[in-house]
Amino acid sequence: MKNFAKIAAALLAGAVALSAMADRPLVVAHRGYWDAPGASQNSLRSLVKADSVGAYASEFDVWRSTDGVLFVNHDMKFKGVTVCEASSTVAGSVVLDNGESMPTLEQLLRQAQQLPGLRLVFELKEHPDKDAEALAVEEGVRMIEEMGLAGRTDYITFSKEALIGFARVAPEGSLVQYLGGDLTPAQVKAVGGNAIDYSIGTLRRRPEWISQARELGMKVNVWTVDRPEDMQWCIDMGVDYITTNQPVVLRRLMEEAEKTGK
Ligand code: MG
Repeated sequence: MKNFAKIAAALLAGAVALSAMADRPLVVAHRGYWDAPGASQNSLRSLVKADSVGAYASEFDVWRSTDGVLFVNHDMKFKGVTVCEASSTVAGSVVLDNGESMPTLEQLLRQAQQLPGLRLVFELKEHPDKDAEALAVEEGVRMIEEMGLAGRTDYITFSKEALIGFARVAPEGSLVQYLGGDLTPAQVKAVGGNAIDYSIGTLRRRPEWISQARELGMKVNVWTVDRPEDMQWCIDMGVDYITTNQPVVLRRLMEEAEKTGK
């Protein structure tokens, strides 16, 4: 009986520790973990590095070339090439700082298939050509599904049109998150979004949006949180995800908090 009580106490302590862990925000590497040897933003290597440092998810940015190939890159214009106004031949010939070619979405997803523990956060960039953007929503979600990644991909965008598009076509269980910061959680939900992904500056000004989102059953993601005091603020506010260029620093900060019971 004494042993039983001991085991029960140990199990309870474990459960409490686990639930404390479960309350911590999950770490999203912004444009992959690019601040690592041999990596650069939105490269295949940055995806591998995000996985290797234990990030929950890795975020990447998507553009559509004029001939309908989806590419992964942050800037609309990069190394003299405007990705959404270039052919796939031209976009694919751009070399990243780490020596890789600018990856297509397909190449990035093939890499992701080798990293089964990593979730993906697919940002569709706001395209000047709204018809191309609408096609990119459909084509992106279809490719994610065909490559068997639908169960571990979420979608984010600044584009209100793409937000509505993703809400319509993203599979059940995906988060569809709005980045703009100019809509209340209720307004995002009204057009089909189920999460806000707002800047740290926006949420520090409008912290009530975090509780409003929660009351509406929505998730809260925050970008781009690199300063330890902002990381701590997000943890204290109980957000669900923190998107950061510094996933290692954030993980360390949360591990320290676990140890000290804060
Ligand atoms: Mg992005």
